[in-house]
Amino acid sequence: MPATENTEITELIADVREQVLYLQELGVETLEFCGELRVENEELKTESREPLQISNLRSEISKPDAISNLRSQVPNIKPANAKPPETKPAGSRLASLPSLSKLSGSGPVRTKVDQGGPIEMENAPIILNTVELPMLPEPTETIEQIRAEIGPDCTRCKLSELGRSKVVNSTGNFNADLMFVGEAPGADEDEQGKPFVGRAGQLLTKIIESIGLTRDDVFIGNINRCRPPGNRAPETDETIACKPYLKREVAVVRPKVIVVLGATAAQNLLETKVPIGKLRGHFHDYLGVKVMPTFHPAYLLRDPHKKREVWEDMKIVRDYLNTQG
Ligand code: SF4
Repeated sequence: MPATENTEITELIADVREQVLYLQELGVETLEFCGELRVENEELKTESREPLQISNLRSEISKPDAISNLRSQVPNIKPANAKPPETKPAGSRLASLPSLSKLSGSGPVRTKVDQGGPIEMENAPIILNTVELPMLPEPTETIEQIRAEIGPDCTRCKLSELGRSKVVNSTGNFNADLMFVGEAPGADEDEQGKPFVGRAGQLLTKIIESIGLTRDDVFIGNINRCRPPGNRAPETDETIACKPYLKREVAVVRPKVIVVLGATAAQNLLETKVPIGKLRGHFHDYLGVKVMPTFHPAYLLRDPHKKREVWEDMKIVRDYLNTQG
């Protein structure tokens, strides 16, 4: 067998070992495999038709040095009372498995493992590992102080030299439950020094009113406060320079939901490359705040058919806010 295929099989077996070891630590008494090992390579598929016998894996695991061997192969397998790793090792699956130290309940657990499918657990109350997610910092300043620090002539990024007229700060209700975040000002905003005041801004006003709110109820801003030339998307260095001020504003306002408008803003805020069409329609997380990505009003002006999706997104936001009192 070629070395690369041998390595793949070895990695696969080590992966199965991880799960078997984990289930043994849970107190699993019965473990059975269903199906066959399926791989893309036809030659391997033929060779791997024989079902794997879990008893073989269990006997392998029960060897005195098996666990230490496995731990050396998979660095984040730890005793139940071990501290979680600071970073998740690439390719590790155990980081997503339930915490042994938080498993409650007693009695045997019957588990069925289906290759390539989910692990089904019966009678096993599982609490997922608590992962330390970054949260919003406690507010120690006001929106006015943040604006003063940015100043009217900010030169922290090259957008200051590329034809902007005004720094466009966020506006609205400093105690808003709902915040809208766009990408950067356009021509109208640059001229007036206010976010979302052009045609797209008028459409945003209608979107806000569609869920029974007004612009005075919400907080509106952009990731970048200066207009990029030709309305191009802000570049990475420009976003890195300006985004911290938005984060500080979010920490002050502490909205329950942020609606982020358009692909560029959504991908910047959520630090992802997932297309807006896949991001929208459900909540994401930004430092503990729910984030609903949706299409930018300027895009809706070009493609009004997308209004239906935005309305669906806004209904989700409205319904969530209604549950928050
Ligand atoms: S985009 Fe932000 S960081 Fe860049 S010059 Fe404008 S206010 Fe300053």
